[in-house]
Amino acid sequence: MISINSKLPTVGINIFSVMSKLAQENNAINLSQGFPDYPTDPKLIDFVTKAMKDGHNQYAPMPGLPVLREFIAEKANSLYNANYDPETEVTVTAGGTEAIFTALASVINPGDEVIIFEPAYDCYSPTVKLLGGLVKPFELHAPDYAIDWEMVKKLFTANTRLIILNSPQNPTGSILSKPDIEALIKLIKNTDILILSDEVYEHIIFDGEQHQSVALYPELQERSFVVASFGKLLHTTGWKLGYCLAPAKLMTEFRKVHQFNVFSVNTPMQLGVANYLKSEKVHETLSSFFEQKRDLFRSLITETKFKLLPCKGSYFQCVDYSTISDEHDLDFAKRLVTEFGVAGIPVSAFYTKNKADKILRFCFAKEQRTLEKAVERLMKI
Ligand code: PMP
Ligand code: GLN
Repeated sequence: MISINSKLPTVGINIFSVMSKLAQENNAINLSQGFPDYPTDPKLIDFVTKAMKDGHNQYAPMPGLPVLREFIAEKANSLYNANYDPETEVTVTAGGTEAIFTALASVINPGDEVIIFEPAYDCYSPTVKLLGGLVKPFELHAPDYAIDWEMVKKLFTANTRLIILNSPQNPTGSILSKPDIEALIKLIKNTDILILSDEVYEHIIFDGEQHQSVALYPELQERSFVVASFGKLLHTTGWKLGYCLAPAKLMTEFRKVHQFNVFSVNTPMQLGVANYLKSEKVHETLSSFFEQKRDLFRSLITETKFKLLPCKGSYFQCVDYSTISDEHDLDFAKRLVTEFGVAGIPVSAFYTKNKADKILRFCFAKEQRTLEKAVERLMKI
């Protein structure tokens, strides 16, 4: 019998796969895993198709096609007044997920401690553990999930290596404010602590708020990996295309890992996306596109027994079901699929300790009629 010493003994199949599968098996409306159910812009498809037909089907350069890296650097410059050299400080990745994995793998050594704000996106913690790092969770609480930075400081030790930020945040839809950033700058001054800033929802922020990228702040930029995803920007989560920005010193280490992980990301998509983005300024209209969906979904939900939590960014809306049921959120989420035909994500899945607050996350990146149909079903509860 071959014995395997699992590197992740407590990890099972992730919650997005579990809930999407259950939704499919029960023919339910799937508001669980975050992905749009409407078509991709045909113009974008044409650009990618043309790139393939024109013969751009072999390896891209390891860090990504220069034309795409240049677009990315210009966008960061115009939005955040940040200088990233496309030659040495921008790398195209296989989605945000690969960027997160690669950034962590390039700087986390066994015994290094990583501070993660929870509820947290599911890949952070297993990746840190896989690398021999130690996760230091900092639990945030509904409804606002605000960060008490003085308490964060108490987690600091001589081994604190990195802090993971995520704004707008998945799953809570909360955002970091300018005072948050100022508190963070004060906290890490005169330390060697690095930052991984997951900004995949940077262009989905509501009510006129400005996204507080770490790239806006030189004191943070110099120590940060910034992660982004074209899946969110272009409504194409299945294309798994993203990128990482970092100062040359960090990016050099990042590329050492990236080149032996995926080497390079698929060529025709990079070229198609670069050409499409030359004429379509998608990032300028994405927030208002999703703000309409958020407002519609929120107004529909008020007709149900679910209580709305704030949603300042991302395409996720959290709801409190404590007046409906006492069940654990995973049980409740499963019953919602099997008995009412709507799938959501139990927020306990995003906490190390499985903190169950009777909160579900719904994705509103859906057609209007999908949201209406889902809420019709939720009204029956
Ligand atoms: N970070 C967060 C917060 C996400 O929500 C996601 C995907 N939904 C990712 C990273 C991964 O992005 P990608 O799908 O481009 O790998
Ligand atoms: N990021 C998506 C979400 O939060 C899912 C990604 C995945 O399935 N791994 O729902």
